[in-house]
Amino acid sequence: MKIAKDFRWEMAHRLQCHKGKCFNLHGHSYKMTVEFEGSVDSNTGMVLDYFEVKDIVAPLVNELDHTVIIWEKDEILIKKISELNSAHVIVPFESTAENLVGYFLDKISNSKLPKEIIKIKVRVCETENTYAEDEMIL
Ligand SMILES: [Zn+2]
Repeated sequence: MKIAKDFRWEMAHRLQCHKGKCFNLHGHSYKMTVEFEGSVDSNTGMVLDYFEVKDIVAPLVNELDHTVIIWEKDEILIKKISELNSAHVIVPFESTAENLVGYFLDKISNSKLPKEIIKIKVRVCETENTYAEDEMIL
């Protein structure tokens, strides 16, 4: 059985390696779906309580909401955003949707999850028309 919950946040970024528009500092209204697969607990009738899902994922999303996410190699942007005193998060990867999926999969899989959960799937949408998705078997 699978259960899923959607999360949303606003975040600015740029892709330093991009040859086109994405090189420019810009923002997205991100949407993420986090899916958990496992057996239904016979006592609770649930795979995982949606409130537990929120407790695990919401702090990760809140950390990024209304910030600029910056690749650690983008030193000029780190310097300029710091000068503006604007909230930012420095990460060891280009902030593509693909890499954000890996970032969340890693963090969620390292959270305290019931042993009945066998698989996590994360889908990150930068726009209404695009997404990246991956899954992790636990
Ligand atoms: Zn973008």
